[in-house]
Amino acid sequence: MFYVTYLSEIIQTAALGECLRFITDGMLGKLTRWLRMLGHDVVYARDMEDLEILDLAKGEQRCLLTRDSELCRRAKNHNIEVLFVDGENDVDRLASVSRRAGLDLEVDPEVSRCPVCNGEIQSVEKNSVLDELLPTTVASYERFWRCVQCGKVFWQGTHWTRIIQTFSEAKTRSR
Ligand SMILES: [Zn+2]
Repeated sequence: MFYVTYLSEIIQTAALGECLRFITDGMLGKLTRWLRMLGHDVVYARDMEDLEILDLAKGEQRCLLTRDSELCRRAKNHNIEVLFVDGENDVDRLASVSRRAGLDLEVDPEVSRCPVCNGEIQSVEKNSVLDELLPTTVASYERFWRCVQCGKVFWQGTHWTRIIQTFSEAKTRSR
C-alpha cells in the first residue's frame, strides 16, 4: 500500500534520458552507488534524521527512495515524490526502481557519476594518472576517468564484468 505515488513527472524525465535526482535512505547504500553509475544525481541520507531527509527531498525536488514504510507515508503526506523500494538484493532493487521510474539500465561511463561521492566524473589522459595506479593497472588498461569532486580515479577493471552482469540481470527482471 505504500507504493509509488507522484512518479508521473520523473517518468516523463526518464523517457528523455535525462539524469534524475534522488535521495536514498540509510538502508540503500548499494542502490545509491548503482544509480550514480547510471548517471543519476543521488544524495545518500546515511546519517540524516527523517525530517532532514524530507526537507532535503522537498527543497531540492528529489524523489525519495526508501525501505522504510513510515518514512514513505510521511513523504506522501508532504507531497514529496517517493518510491518504496522492493527487493532483498541489488538486482531486485535496481529492477524495482527501473520498472517503476522508467530508468534505463545501460551504464555509460561518459555520463556516470562517482559512486563514492556523487560528483561528476571526467575522462582523463592515462599519462595524468600514472603515479596513482599500480603497475599492473597501467599495463592492462587505457581508459581512465576522474571524479571532479573527490579525485578518485576509475577504470573498467576486472570488476567491470560483474557490474555489467548485475545491470543485465536487473534489466531482465524489470520487464
Ligand atoms: Zn567522487
